[in-house]
Amino acid sequence: MKTDKHIAIAGAGPVGSLLALYLAKRGYRVDVFERRPDLRAETLQAGRSINLALSTRGIRALDEVGLGDALRRVAIPMHGRVMHSVQGQISSLPYGKQGQFINSISRSGLNVVLINGAEAQGVNFHFNQRVAHVDLQKTTLTLQQNGGEKKLAFDAIIGADGAFSAVRAALQFTDRVDYSQDYIDHGYKELHIPAGPNGSFLLEKNALHIWPRESFMMIALPNPDGSFTCTLFFPFEGATSFASLKTNEDIVAFFKNTFPDAVALMPDLLHDYQTNPTSSLVTMKCYPWVKNKTLVIGDAAHAVVPFYGQGMNAGFEDCRVLNELLDTHHDDWDVVLPMFQSQRKQDTDAIAQLALDNFIEMRDLVADADFLLRKKIEARLHELYPEQWIPQYSMVTFHDTIRYSEAQALGRKQKRIMDDVMKLPHLATTWQSLDFQQLVRRMQEA
Ligand code: FAD
Repeated sequence: MKTDKHIAIAGAGPVGSLLALYLAKRGYRVDVFERRPDLRAETLQAGRSINLALSTRGIRALDEVGLGDALRRVAIPMHGRVMHSVQGQISSLPYGKQGQFINSISRSGLNVVLINGAEAQGVNFHFNQRVAHVDLQKTTLTLQQNGGEKKLAFDAIIGADGAFSAVRAALQFTDRVDYSQDYIDHGYKELHIPAGPNGSFLLEKNALHIWPRESFMMIALPNPDGSFTCTLFFPFEGATSFASLKTNEDIVAFFKNTFPDAVALMPDLLHDYQTNPTSSLVTMKCYPWVKNKTLVIGDAAHAVVPFYGQGMNAGFEDCRVLNELLDTHHDDWDVVLPMFQSQRKQDTDAIAQLALDNFIEMRDLVADADFLLRKKIEARLHELYPEQWIPQYSMVTFHDTIRYSEAQALGRKQKRIMDDVMKLPHLATTWQSLDFQQLVRRMQEA
């Protein structure tokens, strides 16, 4: 379809760039305004999150725009979690069935591929241009660059400008817009495990590593150069917290006592800890996402905490769903935008809650023997009844046809059943019997 419609996107992050590509492929004229410099010309800023987990929902969208294969080639499959105890013992737990995995991918590398892909489709990117104001009546953007300002008019404006969106701020100034932001008590800091000799991986390469410590945790994801990016999720305040580690001695002693096997692989720990920022974690919700011809999408509409590895994947799913609605409704934006927001809101609310819940699971339960047995039982049930019993993690991470809201509802039901199952006597010896598994299925059907 060829159209004269001229669309502005605020933000050239992963979601803005992917959406630009989708829309350019539909024949729209698309301009993207990004407040930062072109990251293709910039060196990576130290201390920023440099990799993230890409999973099925995100990949489906990337496949639709023709970039899935290129990105799969540079991603590192992570087949399961590897847990590190304080004593240095290691246990592992697959994420799903054989052949199911999540992908560690460079955040900036992915963003560059998306920007290049969108540019190749004719999208115009404008860097160092900050959206300062949006007029929702006239559909105009006020842009700031080098101390100057200009105002441009469009047929539609899409805010993909992240959790602290300027486009959303314009929506918030209008009547009947709900908004909430909730910071958790924990912040995060990125640290680094360098590659070993000849770019070798000093920890298991194809896994997401977790050091669960009940009230906090550290994780590590592999990078193609053999290094790992570690992220410490830690309370801001309290007896054991960012605030309590005041001196170099405090920091070193804490790490040696808490993550001894990791510290041995972190020669620059003190420098990284002192230099890299401590950042906060927020759940942000708003509604409606649409006013007149302006829409917010991705983190601008629904920022979630990172513990399900779904924030960007959810933003990519937004783009896919919007594109699908444009397909089925012949690019009638007046019809599509209200449908899009009402359909997606329940799903992004669901993933926001699931992500908060998963923090507790990761930092606390992953180290627990009952939890591991619970996961084994669920995995076996999934093997025996692949369509009837799908673990919640798999529904969220490895499915793109089960909506987040459905995964949440089904997951809650399965959790209730598993809570009862875990109270059954002699579980450790009986759970592999067929009688037992059929009993669980009957409980599910009841
Ligand atoms: P952003 O990535 O925030 O991009 C917004 C863009 O808009 C930026 O380039 C910004 O410079 C630009 N911008 C902002 N304001 C303006 C303005 N006024 N004018 C012009 N441009 C502007 N998600 C996953 O799926 N998997 C993971 O494993 C994962 N791990 C994470 C780990 C951490 C520690 C964190 C914090 C997040 C993680 N996420 C993960 C979430 C993921 O980073 C976000 O969901 C994703 O980046 C959202 O993309 P976006 O394009 O909507 O917003």
